[in-house]
Amino acid sequence: MSFESLGLQAELLRAVADAGYDDPTPVQRLAIPPILAGRDMLAGAQTGTGKTAGFTLPLLQRLGANRPANGRPVRALVLTPTRELAAQVQDSVVTYGRHLSMKSLALFGGVSINPQISALRRGVDILVATPGRLLDHAQQGTVDLSRVEILVLDEADRMLDMGFIRDIRRVLKLLPAKRQNLLFSATFSAEIRGLADGLLENPERIDVAPRNTAAELIDQKVHPVDRARKRELLSWLIGGQDWRQVLVFTRTKHGANRLAEQLERDGLSAAAIHGNKSQGARTRALADFKAGKVRVLVATDIAARGLDIDQLPHVVNYELPHVAEDYVHRIGRTGRAGREGQAISLVCVDEHDLLRGIEKLLGRKLPSETLPGFEPDPRVRAEPIENGRRGGGKPPRGGSNPPRAASARPRAGDSARPGHRGGQAARSRRRAGARA
Ligand code: AMP
Repeated sequence: MSFESLGLQAELLRAVADAGYDDPTPVQRLAIPPILAGRDMLAGAQTGTGKTAGFTLPLLQRLGANRPANGRPVRALVLTPTRELAAQVQDSVVTYGRHLSMKSLALFGGVSINPQISALRRGVDILVATPGRLLDHAQQGTVDLSRVEILVLDEADRMLDMGFIRDIRRVLKLLPAKRQNLLFSATFSAEIRGLADGLLENPERIDVAPRNTAAELIDQKVHPVDRARKRELLSWLIGGQDWRQVLVFTRTKHGANRLAEQLERDGLSAAAIHGNKSQGARTRALADFKAGKVRVLVATDIAARGLDIDQLPHVVNYELPHVAEDYVHRIGRTGRAGREGQAISLVCVDEHDLLRGIEKLLGRKLPSETLPGFEPDPRVRAEPIENGRRGGGKPPRGGSNPPRAASARPRAGDSARPGHRGGQAARSRRRAGARA
């Protein structure tokens, strides 16, 4: 099936050809015709499936088809969980809309609000925003959402995980009742279904998201190693096997910084990417990594979300995540689009419970290989794992693997905005308090 047969207009077909796409992906084939027809949609699709073009292309066509006689009101609103994703979606809007005269803006925290206000004043057709900053604008009266025709919730499960449900409901109150609603999510919890029930009218349901299948194409392996020797083993693996592009996950921002510095000292070019870094620093680190100037990118889970880096040959779990589902998201960065990838986990004695939780989720044991020279010392006892919360958060009892809903919210390790202590949940509470 071709893009032509989906009913897209010539300007969009040209942009798709410019982007080098030959055929639509499954989510695009399923999503584009009903969205063009004005239907609401509940879509199960992960990053990497081509979902962004799946909603952006028909959205552009619908907006282009009935332009307002005067002014340039916000007519489409895309909500995303992270600023990285907001920036990427807006990039896609620019890419696919390059032969149409449509204005778009990405709105997120952590950067100055004034240029955003000026851009909004000049007129924006398509706004891509994180909920917090959007509400800041709404409160200041610098954004008008009363003429929104299409609402997209992108990565809705992530938004709920990050504690955005109240913010989303506040945003919904600012929108006109009559509009087209599209909800994209990789997973469907009861909370997502509740949100969808209240939001969507007779939606078209599509589903291309694999359910925790942890991609058969990914070669997964565990290397048992002592806590104190993980860095040495990592440098040895990267250097010894001449890996050129490695994404390494740590649990905390501090851990990410420290590891990047240590790797640099080992002679491996490395950069850390996490919520405390400025937007500029994160963008630079990602660009350097993609360009091959930086060999190792060390990231925390939340910072890595929504990053347009996939099809990597190597992903390393330097530390296992507290939440088993995060393991699946992490390793999903490799082995995309039919390519083989390798996901390696360095597991010390403290992490055995976390590993069991992951294996339970996957429904199988991961192959384990002890590397000669790195055999764990059997005398080393397990220590509780710090869970990255600020303000004296307790480590999870016995290092167990708590269910996502219970643990994801207080994971303050990556506030969506730098300089805000206490992370998303605390911020929501503060905002609620400030408005009460
Ligand atoms: P997404 O799931 O929207 O994050 O897209 C994942 C990647 O797939 C992006 O880098 C897109 O540029 C790329 N992509 C989207 N649609 C297609 C297509 N039809 N053919 C090839 N690549 C695509």
